[in-house]
Amino acid sequence: MTTPDRADLVVVGAGTIGGWASYFAKTDGAGRVVVLERELAGMGASSRAAGIVRAQGGTPATVALGRWSIDFYRRQAETVGTDSGFRELGYLILAVTEDDERAGRERVAMQQAQGLDVRWLTAAEAATLVPTLSLDGHRGGSYLATDGHIDPPRNVRAYSLAMQAAGVELRERTAFLGLLVVPTPGGGRRVIGVETSAGPISTERVLLTGGPSLRAVGRAAGVRIPAGAARHTVAVLEPHAAFDVERMPMVFDIGAGLYWRLEEGGLLFGWSDPDEAPGEARSINWPMYEAARARLAAFVPITRDLGLRKIWAATIDYTPDHLPILGPALTVDGVGIEGVTVASVGGHGMMWGPGVARVAADLALTGRTGLIDVADLGLDRFDEQGRSRLATDPIALPFPLDAADAADASDSADERVAAR
Ligand SMILES: Cc1cc2nc3c(=O)[nH]c(=O)nc-3n(C[C@H](O)[C@H](O)[C@H](O)COP(=O)(O)OP(=O)(O)OC[C@H]3O[C@@H](n4cnc5c(N)ncnc54)[C@H](O)[C@@H]3O)c2cc1C
Repeated sequence: MTTPDRADLVVVGAGTIGGWASYFAKTDGAGRVVVLERELAGMGASSRAAGIVRAQGGTPATVALGRWSIDFYRRQAETVGTDSGFRELGYLILAVTEDDERAGRERVAMQQAQGLDVRWLTAAEAATLVPTLSLDGHRGGSYLATDGHIDPPRNVRAYSLAMQAAGVELRERTAFLGLLVVPTPGGGRRVIGVETSAGPISTERVLLTGGPSLRAVGRAAGVRIPAGAARHTVAVLEPHAAFDVERMPMVFDIGAGLYWRLEEGGLLFGWSDPDEAPGEARSINWPMYEAARARLAAFVPITRDLGLRKIWAATIDYTPDHLPILGPALTVDGVGIEGVTVASVGGHGMMWGPGVARVAADLALTGRTGLIDVADLGLDRFDEQGRSRLATDPIALPFPLDAADAADASDSADERVAAR
C-alpha cells in the first residue's frame, strides 16, 4: 500500500517568488513544503532578467518592498548562506520632459517621507556623477546611491541552494494542473489538495505563482488573475575603457522604458517595445533594437560605435496597474478559496522579489503580514475586465501602455508562452 502524497504547503512555480517564498515558509516552520515546477527552477523570467534593483518605488508600498529586498540581498550571505550577487551602483532616474521632472520631484518628496535618502540632481550634477552621460537631452533626475543590481542566474542558484538546505522538496518537470476544493458552510470553497502531472497531493495550503504564466496557472485553479506577459529585450555592448570601473550609477530613461548599467566592462541595456503584442517572447525585434540603440547613444555617446556582445528577448510578467498581486484566491464569482494565496510581482521580481516572497509566505501561513499593507493589493481590486481601481505605478516600465487591454489579449497568448 502506498501512502498518499501530503504537504503542509504546496507552492506552484520555482521562480524567484516561489523559490524564496518556499524557503521563508520552510524556515518559519511550515512543515513539509513542496514546490511544483513544470520545467526547471528559474526557467521562467527569473533567470533571464537584467537584475536592476531599486528602492526608488512609485508608491509607499513599493518603496518598502524595494528596501526590504535590498536589505535582504545585502545580508543574504550571512543569514541564508548564499548570495545573489548584489552590487551597489546607485540609480539615476532621468527626467526628459517637464512633466517627467514634475512627477519626479513629487516622487522624491514621497520617497523622502518614507525615509529614503534620495535626492534630485540637476542635469549638470547628473552628468558629473555619471561621466559617460551627455549633458543634453535631459533635465537631471532622482538619485539614490544605495540602489544596484543582482546577477539573476546567481539568484536562481542562491534560492535553489537555500531551498535545498532548508529541506524544501522541489519537484521539477511536474506541472500543477488544478485545485481540489470542497464547499464551506458559508458558501465559499476550501482547498484540500492539488492535481499535478505526477498525481494528486493533499494539502490545506497552496501558493500560486507563475510569473508570465500566472494567468494560465490561475485558469487551471479556477481563479481569474488579470496578469499578462510581453516581450522584453536586454542587450550587452562590447567593453569600453569608460565602463571598466568599479562603480558608475545605473540610469533609467523612464518615459521610454530604457535603462542601462555596467556589465563586465561593457554596458547592459534593456527596453520594452511600446507596440508590443502580448505573449511574444524569444525573437528579437531588430528595428526596435536599432531605435533603442539610437536613444541610448543620444544619452551615452560613446556607445554609438560599440559592437554588440549579446542580446536576448524573454517574456516579462506584468499586472494591469504594474503593482504586485498579493492576497487570497477568488473564484470567478468572487468567492474566496480558503487556503489559497496568489502572488505576482508585476514584472519587478529582482527589485521586489524577496519582499513579495516574504509577504506571500506570511499570507500563505498566517493570512497576515507586517511588511506592507496588503489591503489594496488583492485580486478584488480588479473588475471583470481586469481593470484596477488603483492608479498605475508611476515608475514601472511604461509598457504595455494599457495593461488591462493587453492582459486581455494575453488570454490567447499565454498558451503560447506556457508552451515555451
Ligand atoms: C528580459 C527580462 C528582464 C527583466 N529585468 C528585470 C529587472 O532588471 N529588474 C526586475 O526587478 N525585474 C526584471 N524582470 C522581471 C522579473 O524577471 C520577473 O518579475 C520575475 O522573474 C518573476 O518571478 P516569478 O517567480 O513570479 O516568475 P518566473 O520566474 O517566471 O517563475 C514562474 C515559474 O512558474 C513555472 N510554472 C508556470 N506554470 C506552471 C505550472 N502549471 N505548474 C508548475 N510550474 C509552473 C514556470 O515554469 C516558472 O519557472 C525582467 C524580466 C525579463 C523577461
